[in-house]
This record gives sequence, structure tokens and C-alpha cells, in this order.
Amino acid sequence: MQHLEVFQTQFFKHSLKVHGKTPNAYVLGELGKFKLERYVKTRMLNFWVNVCTGKSTKFSTVMYKFMKGKFDKNEVDFKWFKCIKETLNDIGLDHILNGNIENDLFCTFLQSDDFKKKINNGMTHYYSEMWEKVLESSDSYNFYHTFKKELVLESYLIDIEPRYAIPLTKFRCENHKLPNVIGRYTNVDAHLRICNLCDLGDKGDNYHYLFNCSFFKKQRENLLKDSIDQLQGRLTSRSMKIKNIMNSKSETHLVNLSKFVTIVMDHFDKAKQN
Ligand SMILES: [Zn+2]
Repeated sequence: MQHLEVFQTQFFKHSLKVHGKTPNAYVLGELGKFKLERYVKTRMLNFWVNVCTGKSTKFSTVMYKFMKGKFDKNEVDFKWFKCIKETLNDIGLDHILNGNIENDLFCTFLQSDDFKKKINNGMTHYYSEMWEKVLESSDSYNFYHTFKKELVLESYLIDIEPRYAIPLTKFRCENHKLPNVIGRYTNVDAHLRICNLCDLGDKGDNYHYLFNCSFFKKQRENLLKDSIDQLQGRLTSRSMKIKNIMNSKSETHLVNLSKFVTIVMDHFDKAKQN
């Protein structure tokens, strides 16, 4: 299973043209995809419904009842059932295991579309929460988590041409050589990862180059003026500014943002090569 998860995320990274070390949560976030485990466990639950609600003469149903009886008395470690129990617990449906599967009405409920929907919604909710917990687990995910709150496909990937979408993905996923990122890989203390292109003494991170660095003032005025003007007077906090500029739905704004971040990222790419 682990190998399949790795294969899936590597395929997503390849499709988005980001490097292999990009956090998995970023690529799942950009594409609005869940870990494969979500689908495997959903199928396991659907299979469990079929087995436990089968006819009393069905071999798998007879075996299930026998094994569950042993498991409940702690007489046997029934791994598959343990996984079913844990998964139902994760999605808040573990109480269902106390139901009487000899009761026809209860079995009809388990086989209903309503129950399937409950499982599906529960899995979506649980795996979205897991994805968000990863983003909350480290300060290095702060920039991405500021503007990305829902596990849904990013519309910019469809709305603008790949030549503009690709640099935008790289900037969003911090696939660049800005001081704040390079410092992480070269063990520079966080407070020392400052911008050396201007005299503001700010941290050299995505926010600084998007909004403040005087070195890119001219390019910012040419390309981001409209986007930034829209923020004036109403949304001035750092997080709101990031959220609004990164989540713009205007194709013109997105293309200009892509052009601007390309200039910034190219500057640091070249600086690194020299
Ligand atoms: Zn600067």
C-alpha cells in the first residue's frame, strides 16, 4: 500500500512539474486528491457490509460471525476486522458494530444508499482533516496553508495556459530558491534568512517578494498593481493579502501573478548558479 501511495504522489509531482521533495500535502492540495488509503478503506467498508449482511447460509457470513464472536471475546486477533473497527471509529460510525445483524431492518439500513453516503461523507471529512493536520504540523507549511484551506482542485490549473500555471504551482509549492527556502535546506537560522536585495531587513519569503521588496518594485507596479489595488483599504492583514492574491479567479490577474513570480524565481535561480 505504501508503495502505491508513493507511486501516486510521485506521479502527481511529475504532472505538476514540481520536484520530488515537495510535501505530499501540497500536491494533493493542488489537485484536490485524497491519499489512496481513503478509497481502499471505503471499499473495505462496503465489502464488510456485504459480508455481515449476507444470507445466514453464505460461507463468508458464517465465518465472519464466528470470527467476530472470537474477536469480541479477545480470543483471536482478527486483523481485517480490527481495521474495519478502527476505520468506523475514525469516521464516527463505530456504534454501528453494536447493531444486531440478525435483524432484517438493521441489515436493510446497512445496505441502503443512505448508509453508503454516510460512509463516503465520513471518509471525505476524515481524510480532509488529516490533510489539514499535516499542514498545521509545521511552520514551514505556513505560506501554503494561509491560502489553501480546502482539499479541492485548483481552478487556475485549468483556467490559464500551462506556461503560466506551471510557475504559479512552483511558487505556491515553494519550489524555488528564495532565501527563506534555501535557508531551510542549508540550516540557516530562521531569523537570518533575510532578503539581501533591499534594506528592509525582512525575511526573504514569498510574502516579502509579492508585496514589499523594493528590488522588484517596478515589475510589481507593472504586473500586480491591479491585484494589489483591490486590496487597499479593506484587507490589510498579511494572511488576507496572501489569501486574496493567491486565490484570485481573474485570469488576467493570475497570468500577471505568474509573470511576476517567474521574474522573482528566475532572479534567485540565476543568483544561485553564479
Ligand atoms: Zn527585499
